[in-house]
Amino acid sequence: MSCIFCKIANGDIPADIITSDEQVIAFLDINPSAKGHALVVPVTHVEDLTALDDTLVSAVFSTAREVGKALMDTLGCEGFNVIMNNGSAAGQVVFHAHTHVIPRNHDDGVMPKMARAQYADGESAKLATTLAGHLSK
Ligand code: 5GP
Ligand code: ZN
Repeated sequence: MSCIFCKIANGDIPADIITSDEQVIAFLDINPSAKGHALVVPVTHVEDLTALDDTLVSAVFSTAREVGKALMDTLGCEGFNVIMNNGSAAGQVVFHAHTHVIPRNHDDGVMPKMARAQYADGESAKLATTLAGHLSK
């Protein structure tokens, strides 16, 4: 397996590990957006969020929550982003599912504000209905 996050999860290459258990490992990003930028990764190789089962979704996001709280407690940051890039169009480079947990402070310039689009009249209601019809639950 050539996957870099599998190698870290298996202990084959080093990382600055924050926490790990049978399901999830969290470690510092090697090229951080800010000091403390962490990655939360399922131990099992799963490509992205669409392939994560509910148990792993819960494990990954509860660990992300705890890492975010630890960043606030230790670094004194004012908040944190939990970001998951799914697919290359969304910026995913490592195709082993992971969430970024990034410490944030007001006016820190860590990332640009999100762009905002606009709907025509009725367009958002129609889209919400279409999406609802495609949900599996
Ligand atoms: P993506 O763009 O796929 O959401 O993010 C992948 C992240 O993995 C990047 O932020 C990158 O810095 C980080 N990364 C890539 N290779 C390594 C590595 O070998 N060790 C660590 N700790 N982080 C890595
Ligand atoms: Zn992997």
